Amino acid sequence: MINFTVGPVQMEEEIRCIGAEEIPYFRTPEFSALMKENEALMAEFMKAGAGARTLFLTGSGTAAMEAAVMNLFTKKDRLLVVNGGSFGARFAKICRIHGIPHEEIRLESGKALRGEHLAPYAGAGFTGFLVNVHETSTGVYYDMELISRFCRENGLWLVVDAISSFLADDFRMEEWGVDLVLTGSQKALALPPGIGVLVLNERAVKRVQETEVESLYFDLKEYLKDGLRGQTPFTPAVSILIQMNRRLTSIVERGAAAKPGAASERKPAAERKSAAELGLAAEQRRIRELAEDFRSRIAGLPFEIVSEAMSAAETPLHPTGCDGAGNPVSAHRIFEILKDEYGIFICPNGGELADTVFRVGHIGNLTKEDNARLIEAFWDLQRRGLL
Ligand SMILES: *Cc1c(COP(=O)(O)O)cnc(C)c1O
Repeated sequence: MINFTVGPVQMEEEIRCIGAEEIPYFRTPEFSALMKENEALMAEFMKAGAGARTLFLTGSGTAAMEAAVMNLFTKKDRLLVVNGGSFGARFAKICRIHGIPHEEIRLESGKALRGEHLAPYAGAGFTGFLVNVHETSTGVYYDMELISRFCRENGLWLVVDAISSFLADDFRMEEWGVDLVLTGSQKALALPPGIGVLVLNERAVKRVQETEVESLYFDLKEYLKDGLRGQTPFTPAVSILIQMNRRLTSIVERGAAAKPGAASERKPAAERKSAAELGLAAEQRRIRELAEDFRSRIAGLPFEIVSEAMSAAETPLHPTGCDGAGNPVSAHRIFEILKDEYGIFICPNGGELADTVFRVGHIGNLTKEDNARLIEAFWDLQRRGLL
């Protein structure tokens, strides 16, 4: 089996082995220390700056999306939601369910967000902005510089879902003025599904502490309090948090191994890169190189890239060919044949795009040899008249 979906993705063997072990009791100083390290590394990898806090919620990524909206906004707010696909639509649905006034900026599938989409909403009384930096359903990566500028100019709280982008693309929370960024365990973190991570800046922490939340499990005040001692209010997905610790610290270790010697250590402290920075950059480069390798290899195949601006995490493709009977090739059919006959998972689309678009992920434990095997399978489909 080779898994090119965008989550759950292939895990390193070391991570899988941790999942096979017994689960230790977690109200201990040892587990607290591990959690504190997870907290610090997540904030560092998000480039969160001083005063940020990281919270771990047991639930899938959507739980973190819902918790973010519930804990930062109320019926008195007015939010702008970028809706370019099913994950943007999910943010809008969360607002609807919680009675939070909002408007959607609807984008055509595959289209980038531009200044002209935002301009009509400037100075129009909005208080917050919700966006999935990588709209995974269509493979569009939004321009964070543009969003950041707009939110600063209009005094908006900025909440970003970076679930499929974190570790694949650079994220500069502090520089972009992001108040809360969230991610999930099963995308580029390459862990089992089950943990949502939220990183909050100082003013978001304060806002959470002042916001009434009608929920026991999703009230982040308790998570903030218990997090100070490396704990969570309820039993967390302990194994995944241990796996996360290994994953994050191994990124740092790889950075330390790549660190140049004494010469660069003589540089002023501000110019010296930490092992964490180097390791993060190396992980992002690894994913980007896999994506570039795949994108260069599809030349000649009957596919069209259907996104104006891509993340390194995935490539969204539209098959342009016809089958023997002259009907357009179905993207979903390609997914099924690869799964059933080749043992390869690509990522199918749902809804309106089911027959026209599939996606190939570049996150998780994949190699260029895996890319080559997928490309070979595509050529085989073509030989068989199926592509
Ligand atoms: C995968 C994903 C989610 C949803 O995550 P679940 O873990 O399935 O709840 C949300 N937003 C984006 C952008 C995603 O890629």
